[in-house]
Amino acid sequence: MRREKLTRATAMIVLKKQEAENGVDFSQRHGARCPACKSKARIYSTKPWEGSTRTRYHHCENGACFLCAMRVTIKSIEVDTIEGEK
Ligand SMILES: [Zn+2]
Repeated sequence: MRREKLTRATAMIVLKKQEAENGVDFSQRHGARCPACKSKARIYSTKPWEGSTRTRYHHCENGACFLCAMRVTIKSIEVDTIEGEK
């Protein structure tokens, strides 16, 4: 067994974990989706607005999903697209 070679499954987990950590899009209508299984991720923390962005933290609740099993925190970023309106 070659230790330095990632299996495809491991590479997938690493990639999806990175996506979760880097942040996924947040939709007012649909919330944030788990980058691995695409199911709606439950919010557990919402940060205040910072400029035109707001960060939330989620957990995937799909028992069959590895991000759920690993309790990986999914970060989402909401961007207010309306600028200059006061
Ligand atoms: Zn998931």
